[in-house]
Amino acid sequence: MSKRTRSGVKNSKKSSENEESIPTKLQKLSSENLAQSFIESRNNCSQSGVSDFLFNKKRVRILSEETSVKAGCDGILYWMDRDQRVQDNWAFLFAQKLALKNRVPLHVCYCLLSKSTDTWRHMKFLLGGLEKVHKECKSLQINFRLLRGYPVESINEYIEDENIGGVVCDFSPLRTPKEDVEILKNVLPKDITLVQVDAHNIVPVWEASEKQEYSARTIRNKINSRLKEFLEEFPPVIKHPHEYKRKSQLIDFQNVLSSLECNRDVIEADWAKPGLKNACDVLYSFCENRLEHFADCRNIPTGNFVSNLSPWFHFGQLSCQRAILYIKTFKSKFPHAVDVYCEEAIVRRELADNFCFYNENYDNLSGLSNWAHKTLNDHRNDERNPCYSTSVLEAAKTHDDLWNSAQIQLLTDGKMHGFLRMYWAKKILEWTKSPEEALETAIFLNDKYSLDGRDPNGYVGCMWSIGGVHDQGWGERPIFGKIRFMNYKGCKKWFDIPEFVSQFEDKMRG
Ligand SMILES: Cc1cc2nc3c(=O)[nH]c(=O)nc-3n(C[C@H](O)[C@H](O)[C@H](O)COP(=O)(O)OP(=O)(O)OC[C@H]3O[C@@H](n4cnc5c(N)ncnc54)[C@H](O)[C@@H]3O)c2cc1C
Repeated sequence: MSKRTRSGVKNSKKSSENEESIPTKLQKLSSENLAQSFIESRNNCSQSGVSDFLFNKKRVRILSEETSVKAGCDGILYWMDRDQRVQDNWAFLFAQKLALKNRVPLHVCYCLLSKSTDTWRHMKFLLGGLEKVHKECKSLQINFRLLRGYPVESINEYIEDENIGGVVCDFSPLRTPKEDVEILKNVLPKDITLVQVDAHNIVPVWEASEKQEYSARTIRNKINSRLKEFLEEFPPVIKHPHEYKRKSQLIDFQNVLSSLECNRDVIEADWAKPGLKNACDVLYSFCENRLEHFADCRNIPTGNFVSNLSPWFHFGQLSCQRAILYIKTFKSKFPHAVDVYCEEAIVRRELADNFCFYNENYDNLSGLSNWAHKTLNDHRNDERNPCYSTSVLEAAKTHDDLWNSAQIQLLTDGKMHGFLRMYWAKKILEWTKSPEEALETAIFLNDKYSLDGRDPNGYVGCMWSIGGVHDQGWGERPIFGKIRFMNYKGCKKWFDIPEFVSQFEDKMRG
C-alpha cells in the first residue's frame, strides 16, 4: 500500500487554509540569496533579537531544582546536540535571551567522543556543519567550544572553569541523549539551572500530546490546531554585546575529523554537503522544480520528486520550521502539494518524536501494540524461504533486483527513496529468521548507511514496516500475520522497476 493512502490529506486542488501569496521578493530569489532572504525575515521579526521578542515558554522545560541563573556568574552555556545550527534555533535563542538578561557572555559547546560509533559519512557531515556553526558564532561574539569526551564530565568541568550560571540544552526523545541529559541534571552543582528547549519540533513534543498517539489520525489535529501558536517567524541570534574575554578555542576541524576513530569504510555521500547554505540550495531547487509534483509523484523512485532534506533536518543544520515557513509561501501556487508536504514534514515527523518520547521501547518489539506483537508471534515459526543473513542483505546479494538496487542506493548514496524504504524493510521481515532479527537488521543497516539514520523517523519507519506501529491490522498472511504486506508486483503498479534497477546496475556490478 502506498503512502498516498496514508497521507490523510484530501486530494483537492483548493486549500481550506488561508492562502499566502508569494511575496515578489521571494519570486525573484535564486538559491544564492535564499539564505539572505531568511536573514531579512528574521530582522523584520525583531531587529534586536530575542530580548524584545515574546518567547513562547511552552517550548521550555526547567529540568533542575534551581530555577534561576546563578548570581555573579560569568556566562550562559548552550549545550548544542541535536540542533546543530545558530539561526532558527529556539534553544540557541533562549540561551541568548538568558545571557542578555544577565549581561554575561554566551557560550556554546558540542560534545564529541574521540571514538565514534558513527561512520565517516556521518562524522564528515556533522563536523562540516559544526565548522560553519563555529565560524558564525565567532562573528557573533559567541564563544564556541568543541568539548571532547562524555557530556557529563566535560560540561561539568567547563561550568566550573568558566563560572557558568545556567545551561540550556536542546531536545531529543532518543535513549542516549535522554540519558545524557538526565545524568547531567543529577550531577550539576545545585545552584546551576538546567533548562531544555524543544528546538526540533514545531509544536514542542510535550505540548502536542501528553501520551503516545495511536496514529497520524489521532495526532494530526492536535498538531495542526497549534500551528497558529508555534509556526512563527524566528527573531535573529544577534551579535552578542557581552564579549567573552578569555582566549577562544582554535579548532582545526580537518584535524579533528582525521583523528576520530570511526568506521571509515562508509564514505561520504557526494550529493549531500553540510551546512545551511547547501541545505538552502536543496530547498530552493525542491520548491522551484519538484514541489509542484510532490503530491502526485513522491512515491515514484525513478524520478526525483521529493525534497531530499532529511539529512539537514536530522543534523539540525536546517530548521524544519524554517523550511515550512518558506514552503508555505508557495501555497497559492501549489496548494495541495504544500498541504501534503506539511503532512509529511510536520505531522509524520512529529508523530515519530511523539512515539519515541512516550515509548521507551521505540526500537524493539516490546514497543509494539498487543495486536502486532501477537500476530508476529503467531507466525514466528512460518517458513522463511529464502532466508538471508545480515551480510548477504548488507551486500545486496538477494534474488530480488529491486531490493538489491534499493540497498545499493543506501550503500552508495546514503539515502534510499522513501517509498522503497517501506518495501525494503518489509522484505527484511519476510527473509530473516525472526521478527526480532528483522527489526535489528533493518535498524542496523539504516543507521549505518543512511545519512539521516539514528533518527526517530528511522526507528518509527522500521517499526511501522515490520511491527505495524501507527498502522492497523490487514488480511492475515504467512510470516507477516496482520502486518501490512508489500510485494514486487505491487511496486510495478507504481513505477518502472527495470528503469530503477538500471540506475544502479553499474554500481551493483562494482
Ligand atoms: C524503513 C524506514 C526507515 C526510515 N528511516 C528514516 C531515517 O532514518 N531518517 C528519516 O529522517 N526518515 C526515515 N524514514 C522516513 C522517510 O522515509 C524519510 O524521512 C524520507 O524518505 C526522507 O527523504 P526526504 O527528505 O526527501 O523526504 P520528503 O518526502 O521530501 O519529506 C519531507 C520530510 O518529511 C519527513 N518525513 C517524510 N516521510 C516521513 C515518514 N514516513 N515519517 C516521518 N517523517 C517523514 C522527513 O523529515 C522528510 O525530510 C524511514 C522510513 C521507513 C519506512
